[in-house]
Amino acid sequence: MTTKSITTTCCVAGGGPAGMMLGFLLARAGVEVVVLEKHADFLRDFRGDTIHPSTLELMREVGLLDEFLKLPHSQVAQLSGQVGDTTIHLADFSHLPTHCKFIALMPQWDFLDFLALHGRKYPAFDLHMRTEATDLIEEGGCVVGVKAKSPDGDIEIRADLVVGCDGRHSTVRDRAGFAVEDIGAPIDVLWFRISRHEDDTAETFGHMEAGMMLVMLNRNDYWQCAYVIPKGGIDRVKAKGFPAFLDSIAFMSPFLRDRLGEIKGWDDVKLLTVAVDRLARWHRPGLLCIGDAAHAMSPIGGVGINLAIQDAVAAANILAAPLKERRVTEALLEAVQQRRTMPMRVIQWLQIQIQNRVLSPVLGTATRPKPPFAAKLFNWFPVLRRIPARLIGLGVRAEHVHTPEAKTS
Ligand SMILES: Cc1cc2nc3c(=O)[nH]c(=O)nc-3n(C[C@H](O)[C@H](O)[C@H](O)COP(=O)(O)OP(=O)(O)OC[C@H]3O[C@@H](n4cnc5c(N)ncnc54)[C@H](O)[C@@H]3O)c2cc1C
Repeated sequence: MTTKSITTTCCVAGGGPAGMMLGFLLARAGVEVVVLEKHADFLRDFRGDTIHPSTLELMREVGLLDEFLKLPHSQVAQLSGQVGDTTIHLADFSHLPTHCKFIALMPQWDFLDFLALHGRKYPAFDLHMRTEATDLIEEGGCVVGVKAKSPDGDIEIRADLVVGCDGRHSTVRDRAGFAVEDIGAPIDVLWFRISRHEDDTAETFGHMEAGMMLVMLNRNDYWQCAYVIPKGGIDRVKAKGFPAFLDSIAFMSPFLRDRLGEIKGWDDVKLLTVAVDRLARWHRPGLLCIGDAAHAMSPIGGVGINLAIQDAVAAANILAAPLKERRVTEALLEAVQQRRTMPMRVIQWLQIQIQNRVLSPVLGTATRPKPPFAAKLFNWFPVLRRIPARLIGLGVRAEHVHTPEAKTS
């Protein structure tokens, strides 16, 4: 098969939250952009479903909030969790300085489809599904494009800038030879679904017990369940037997007992490995990484999507005009890294504190856990719930859309 060649201004490898938001914003600003997504659709259910208040604010800034909120979703204004027999009321989003004072729980493919739909309204937007970036094209020490494979054959996409948005197993960062600092995560996740009945609670639910933890995301007609285990502990879970696994789920969420038969065996339970890492340098001439490709996030706190989207907004703000004028320099790529490093470090630091101080002890104990003193403060002083709400809902250094909407003829 012959190799097809495309020339564009920016090539985004990876159509997750970071890549789709960046592609949408650049196209909206009139920058020619090719987005490559290796899968045929956006049904990557591992990503979680949290659309944060900050992202809803961005939707408002680009004039799409009302239409977006018409998509089926549920609104979560408070977050609570259960540690042993104590319920902790952890976050209250109702005081956030945003128009939407809640997290929207929406299947993420609906969100990404929405961005694709609106991206396609701009002539500069070119989304290639089933197209996998396989290598970088380099000339004179500078990245000048991407090699990709698609069902129609190999493609070379030549671009002034390549942005790696291909997630925590990024091919782009691997091919670029970036040094990765592996911070490590002591947990993995067993991922499965169970049907949701109309009279079930609507709440997203987290429950910690001795040696186990279950988080349940409300996806309207089913619960997406994340059963947290110690890293590498899958063999120990399996050694106890499948019935013991089901019993532990029923212990943490008794209302599921009547439908546990839906999980027929280990084939219905997917192991997701959790990574926390970051690049020392996010860029090289002609190349930038953002989102999980630059800093893989743990699921703790459900904040990785927010961070990825915020990276994309910052990158679009800093790079859209220079890309249009074909004057992107490495100093500008460094400016993106500089702007996003502090928020990323703060959030990763918090995730690591929670995984090491809370999750690891709970998963390693045989006695029923009690909430740490600091967690009880959230129950006693409701005003404190605004702090996690801010960190989860807005992150640190919330970004706003400064890119204009280019006129379309
Ligand atoms: C089990 C688990 C649960 C999580 N739950 C939540 C949650 O509830 N809330 C939250 O905020 N965060 C959650 N996270 C973290 C969150 O998933 C990530 O931080 C976030 O998805 C990062 O977005 P991204 O766009 O950078 O990368 P990704 O979401 O990983 O997207 C990368 C995209 O690139 C595509 N791709 C990969 N390689 C290539 C290639 N070579 N060529 C073309 N395309 C490619 C992939 O198919 C994918 O669509 C969770 C993480 C895990 C592990």
